[in-house]
Amino acid sequence: MNAQVAYDHEAELTTVLERCNAAARDYNIPSKSELPEGYIGTLGHFPVYFPEEIVHAAKLLPVNILGGGNKLELKYADARMGSFICSICRSTTELGLNGTLGDMAGFVTHPICDAAKHLAGIWARNLPDQLSQILYLPQNVNSPGAARYIASEYQRLRGEIEKKIGHTIDDEAIRNSIQIYNVNRRLLRELYRIRRDEPWKVSCTEAYLLMRARTRIPCEEHNALLSRALDAIRHRSLPAQDKPRIVFVGGFCEQPPIEMLEAMDDNCYIVDDDLLVGLRWFTEDVPETGDPIWALAESYIVRSEASPVQHDENKPKEGYLLDMVKNAKADGAILTAAKFCEPGLDEQIAWSKHFDAENIPYLVLEFEEKMTSFEQMAMQVETFAESLLFAIA
Ligand code: SF4
Repeated sequence: MNAQVAYDHEAELTTVLERCNAAARDYNIPSKSELPEGYIGTLGHFPVYFPEEIVHAAKLLPVNILGGGNKLELKYADARMGSFICSICRSTTELGLNGTLGDMAGFVTHPICDAAKHLAGIWARNLPDQLSQILYLPQNVNSPGAARYIASEYQRLRGEIEKKIGHTIDDEAIRNSIQIYNVNRRLLRELYRIRRDEPWKVSCTEAYLLMRARTRIPCEEHNALLSRALDAIRHRSLPAQDKPRIVFVGGFCEQPPIEMLEAMDDNCYIVDDDLLVGLRWFTEDVPETGDPIWALAESYIVRSEASPVQHDENKPKEGYLLDMVKNAKADGAILTAAKFCEPGLDEQIAWSKHFDAENIPYLVLEFEEKMTSFEQMAMQVETFAESLLFAIA
């Protein structure tokens, strides 16, 4: 009789994290020969939110282009844009110009800010073989015609992709993709629930790497990895430490370096954040029946997270952050913004004024994806965490 091998949750989590870490830190795009079975190519999109289901239904692997991290040397991008543009725009341009993203079928950006919008023009001129598009998501989602307008934009994008790949994308395929992505979003919501309820079981860095893997691997594989990771995390029995509970915001577009997240993990429990919020945009399932384009368009408005790049009078800037802090039972917040990020800096001012009025402790930090020195930042976070511990003791 075979002896049953005991389930080793730490070994299982390590295996999943190693796979996710490799995918998350990979700035390359799979070439046609490296693509998972069933996929015919890749299509890149810029943060924050993008309806990946339409691309997935076209059998293209959606890849979320998140800049070049802090190891990329800029050789070409500085000739195309000013030094006052945020790092993610410049490094994304570099990855396009140096050939790293050359195999993609196309690249779609959004008018979340002027810098992001103009990426599409640079792309069209320099990578003319790729489909280069701006997906115009509405700034004012409270207009009565907003859902209809988004649906027409999604149909336009669907038509452009169909022209590029040479076949139609049928509704049934999009509905199937919505089902797969709904599973993914449910798993991510569970990951965030654990972080709120038992933050000692999974760090912000671990959760981020688990989540970020979806930017390079098929959603189906990501679902399987997340299920295994969640099972292992639930089995973890790590002791709770004496750390303050913190909400971290400002990482919605340009990505904070991993070392910054690790510095926060060392001193705080990050119980909620807006990292990669576009990947978990919907607060509940997108309807899986009926017109799938309408389901995605309507959900963008009525089942969506708040974000600095969307102006929704039902989710005022100050209100949603206060809700995050309350729902996560946080002791304070870290308000950050990427260097030169207009939407992020606008939000930071509104948030800090509101926190002053509500007497909620916060720390303001600035980051840049290419930063390499973290000692000073780590010291600021440590001092902030200690002051909170004294205050709540
Ligand atoms: S980081 Fe800010 S400024 Fe840069 S593309 Fe994103 S939203 Fe725009």
